[in-house]
Amino acid sequence: MKRLLSTETLTILAILLGILAGTVFPDFMLGVKWIGDLFLMLLKMLIIPLVFASVFVAIVSLGSGEALKNLGLKAFGYYFLTTALAVTTGLVIVNLIEPGTAHHLAGSAAITPPKEHTFASLLLSFVPSNIFTSLSQGKIVQILVFVIFFAVAVLHIEPTKRETLQLFFEAVNDAMGTIAAWIIKLTPLGVFSLIGYVVAKEGLQTLWDLKDYVLAVTLALAIHAVFILPLLAAWIGRFNPLEYFTKVREAVLIAFSTASSSATLPVSIEVAGEKGGVRRESAGFILPLGATVNMDGTALYEAIAVMFIANSYGVDLGFSQQIVIFLTATFASVGAAGIPGAGLVMMTMILSTVGLPLEAIGLIAAVDRILDMFRTSINVWGDLLAAKILNRFV
Ligand code: ASP
Repeated sequence: MKRLLSTETLTILAILLGILAGTVFPDFMLGVKWIGDLFLMLLKMLIIPLVFASVFVAIVSLGSGEALKNLGLKAFGYYFLTTALAVTTGLVIVNLIEPGTAHHLAGSAAITPPKEHTFASLLLSFVPSNIFTSLSQGKIVQILVFVIFFAVAVLHIEPTKRETLQLFFEAVNDAMGTIAAWIIKLTPLGVFSLIGYVVAKEGLQTLWDLKDYVLAVTLALAIHAVFILPLLAAWIGRFNPLEYFTKVREAVLIAFSTASSSATLPVSIEVAGEKGGVRRESAGFILPLGATVNMDGTALYEAIAVMFIANSYGVDLGFSQQIVIFLTATFASVGAAGIPGAGLVMMTMILSTVGLPLEAIGLIAAVDRILDMFRTSINVWGDLLAAKILNRFV
């Protein structure tokens, strides 16, 4: 009975009920949107102090800049490998299914194209010029850059002073973890409202209208999540991915409902450490880094979406163009923030690289939120696996 009433089981039930209620009582679900918003705000409230404290504690516990460099290089190597595999899976599936070729649609300018990103502008956006602005605006990558400098510098100061700071941030970290555990108890309610709202607002019909495209994205995501990543976990990490999933699935369900890796971060850190057996040095550093840098789901989606748009416009993108897509999709996934819809914004970069009109985004905008839920789940699942795999090397 206790198991049946666990937060995980209730959350799955809440997702199903949310879909049902959003379809049958859309007005009611639009009216109780505030519950989901409240849940999201509580999670977001924890992000900044938690990222700051957990990354600091992780680096100081690693003990040296050398150990950090070691882990950091491994992390980036692993991220690149999995992102490349994700984009490749996306490209293979999209070439097999060929969504969009059957009916050439005309693009509609449903959303205003956001400004374009370049390599230089992206790189500069990672560096903070005022850490308090970064903190108040929630610029996670900038905060990460600052904390890495700060923590490595602290490793070079007098041990007694270092211990004081370490104790302080450990306390902050533990307190945030405790609040996260409380908020997790509210997951079923929050999830019910968030999912119900999306279904009531978007409707499930839009999914059917773009079924080939939706199928290509979800199938490729499933292959990556169920076969490729677990194989890497068993092979490099030497652990049972299924068993690990049952321990950390709460975070994946929250990622699905919120469509935000960043909002899920407090839960990912909590469940990976408390239930998944991931050490603090790994969870505290790899998860915040991964939430912004490692987005397999987003990378895969970018590749499929641009191919779908090209097909819909009757443009044939050959092998060399697909290599360009491979590179830009990888880059776009690194640049995308862990918030809903970030992947759609990054599409502009890819579209302009391959010479497609930016307003083509209007073609895929209608189903973006729902696909965002799927790709964010894979982003977070990828981060959780990365933390456990790299745990072996800490
Ligand atoms: N929503 C995604 C995330 O937070 C990013 C995206 O839009 O692809 O992970």
